[in-house]
Amino acid sequence: MTAYCSEEYLSRDGLRQLQSIRLRTTLARAARSPFYSQRFAECGIDLNAITGPDDITRLPFTTKDDLRSAYPDRMLTRPASDMLRLHASSGTTGSATVIYYTRNDVDSWADLMARCMHMVGVRPEDTFQNMSGYGLFTGGLGIHYGAERLGCLTIPAGAGNSKRQLKLLEDFQVSVIHIIPSYALHLSATKEELGYTPERLNLRIALIGAEPHTEAIRQRIEDVYGLKAYNSYGLSEMNGPGVAFECVHQNGMHIWEDAYLPEIIDPETGEHVAEGETGELVITTLCREGMPLIRYRTRDLTRFLPGQCPCTRAHRRLDRIMGRSDDMIILKGVNIYPMQVEKVLMSIPEVGQNYLIVLEREGYLDQMRVKVEVKEEFFVEDMRVLKALQARISSRLRDEILITARVDLVENNSLPKSEGKAQRVLDLRNG
Ligand code: ADP
Ligand code: ZN
Repeated sequence: MTAYCSEEYLSRDGLRQLQSIRLRTTLARAARSPFYSQRFAECGIDLNAITGPDDITRLPFTTKDDLRSAYPDRMLTRPASDMLRLHASSGTTGSATVIYYTRNDVDSWADLMARCMHMVGVRPEDTFQNMSGYGLFTGGLGIHYGAERLGCLTIPAGAGNSKRQLKLLEDFQVSVIHIIPSYALHLSATKEELGYTPERLNLRIALIGAEPHTEAIRQRIEDVYGLKAYNSYGLSEMNGPGVAFECVHQNGMHIWEDAYLPEIIDPETGEHVAEGETGELVITTLCREGMPLIRYRTRDLTRFLPGQCPCTRAHRRLDRIMGRSDDMIILKGVNIYPMQVEKVLMSIPEVGQNYLIVLEREGYLDQMRVKVEVKEEFFVEDMRVLKALQARISSRLRDEILITARVDLVENNSLPKSEGKAQRVLDLRNG
């Protein structure tokens, strides 16, 4: 078992010791920023009383709104001129927030990302194509630097332009890609159309992430491209990608606990949930210099997987992200996550690559309509066949989400696509 770095195989005790040291350094640094010095003073925090991870609950949370209120630079520990780079979140929900990096931050981020890729077998001999958007989005440069740190020949393809993506994959016999799951499925249609069989390509590994997706979607991606796909989790507030990543066992994402101190809380009460229960992921950065974040509420819902991973790494594993606490749909008093709908849809063989959940209001009643793409070979003229499929989807959905949704069957690849993160829900209720 080769390790990328000494932190990778630290024991629980080793990790705790390192966390205690790094937490204290982080707090001292944070206190130098205008935002945290004020926050700590307001909350009467005695930083000397915080000696290790167990004391973390004495500290206040940091929220996305705090980041917005500190815009553009009140969370910096040093003047902006001392920073090397900035990124912004893609603004999937609400307005964008800005994250700054010092040279050391850029460096440790590249190492974290390289560690993730190394863990699943990416090596300097690999040729790597990054198909995510560059620019302010961290999935571009973040993963790019990781791949270069490992020594891979790195192709900064960026998002979109499917024909060119495929040509690059073939011409340079690319072996590793980074791709957003919904785009991977979208690209597969062009791939088939142009006859790029797995044999023509040389792919072996995909890093997939940046948006919630189900196990079934992973399997589709693996089948279509003939490779292994690994779930990659991160968020700009925590650098970007490289926060948590699956190992070869593909069973939960190891969160790198030497760099991040994770907690799972009940989003209502702010208290820690019982071991193994689902809640909101809260993270404290342990290595960041320029803009440390204390108990940042990610709004992502997940849980710690119990037990030890067969790979023996002691860094705990996060379950697949279920969605964000603010993604939750409340319809007729029932709480529904888009991933529940996806899980049902993707278990039905006739269902194609894409779907859209539309929330509508009729009079005083809220309704859910699910537009579902049907694979070409099943999209037949025979109305009875389609009606039966519609009824089957509707009844399977009712079993899962307890609501009767209207199901519209549409042709494969007919729903709108984005080159970035997929928009799965269209809420027309207040329009
Ligand atoms: P934005 O918040 O604007 O989308 P980011 O680019 O920072 O900006 O996105 C980070 C978010 O993307 C995470 O908080 C999470 O909701 C989602 N995300 C990232 N990776 C994954 C993943 N592997 N699975 C599910 N969701 C993910
Ligand atoms: Zn593992």
